[in-house]
Amino acid sequence: MGCIETEKTDLGFLERIEQMSRANLSRCWHCMACSGGCPLSREMDVMPNAVLRMVQFGLREEVLKTSTIWLCVGCNTCSMECPNAVDIAGVMDALRQVALRENAEIAEPGILAFHNAVVDSIGRYGRTHKLEIMMRYKLSEKELFSDIDLGLKMLSRRKLDLLPSKVKDRKSIKSLFSIPKEAI
Ligand code: SF4
Ligand code: SF4
Repeated sequence: MGCIETEKTDLGFLERIEQMSRANLSRCWHCMACSGGCPLSREMDVMPNAVLRMVQFGLREEVLKTSTIWLCVGCNTCSMECPNAVDIAGVMDALRQVALRENAEIAEPGILAFHNAVVDSIGRYGRTHKLEIMMRYKLSEKELFSDIDLGLKMLSRRKLDLLPSKVKDRKSIKSLFSIPKEAI
């Protein structure tokens, strides 16, 4: 992590992330069990326990720029491994929310495009329509025709549905999506 420039630290950041994630970061003793168990840690630029350390030190700008917060798939392995029951997956989620609200530089824009396509599908149908998600994602990445062979194969094997399946009570789903972000 190198030297910490105190003028770059945000002292309220730790409290904000703890409130959003309901995780108590003072319980972390940096045993690295979370990082050791994380299936994505090899791809990450900063280990999950180091992300917690950056939050503890109030390194807001730096931590919001990491690829780690976008590569995290929220599998909860780290939270289960933690001997002190720190909800690391919840912290990653809070960091992604703050990054979006503050228009921080996104280290993995492709992952954000995919995330948006999934959330949009759930908002409209109450379920994920995989074909549409894939097409929207490919379109946003300007790669509509890449993997077309695979897509056709999946369609022919009925692994993808042409039309979306919708939940009956779409009104309730819509109401979930109309909650102001500040209230979450
Ligand atoms: S497993 Fe828990 S205590 Fe250990 S480094 Fe990770 S968050 Fe901290
Ligand atoms: S929730 Fe994220 S950080 Fe934790 S183990 Fe899974 S991918 Fe890694």
